[in-house]
Amino acid sequence: MKNCPLCGEMLGDAVNKCFNCGYDYSNPNAFKEKLKEKQETHEKLKKQEDDRIKNFITVSAHILDGYKITKYMGIVHGEAALGTGAFSEMNASISDFFGSNSTGFQSKLASAQNMAISVMKENAIRNGADGIIAVDIDLNVLSNNMILVSANGTAVKFEKLNT
Ligand SMILES: [Zn+2]
Repeated sequence: MKNCPLCGEMLGDAVNKCFNCGYDYSNPNAFKEKLKEKQETHEKLKKQEDDRIKNFITVSAHILDGYKITKYMGIVHGEAALGTGAFSEMNASISDFFGSNSTGFQSKLASAQNMAISVMKENAIRNGADGIIAVDIDLNVLSNNMILVSANGTAVKFEKLNT
């Protein structure tokens, strides 16, 4: 057996053309071009994805100043659980809630919220949205000493208004 150098497909030794991607062992130069093309496409897509995440807007408001919402794409959702032990930590640090110290519990809660928002963003990006409006964070106490953080919002497509 051998692996196709282009797509990694397992091929029999006698095979000279990959059934998966069409790589031709008798014409390896075509492979180099194809590989270059593939890498360029990959880099381009990755840059588009990075730009998208960077420009991705998440707001609790129902409108976007300076943008025109062109499409409502439905509710997107993300959640994260705060693990067992959160309550005992909360009790231990309850006085800090009213003090100036940031507690371990608070920072755990904040990172769980960020996690829930990230998951929600990923879902929206996967659906082709440009941003999320009307973002709402909910905390639910589960029976087994856990807290579930849920983020909900409306995925939208928008255009920048010329001002
Ligand atoms: Zn192949």
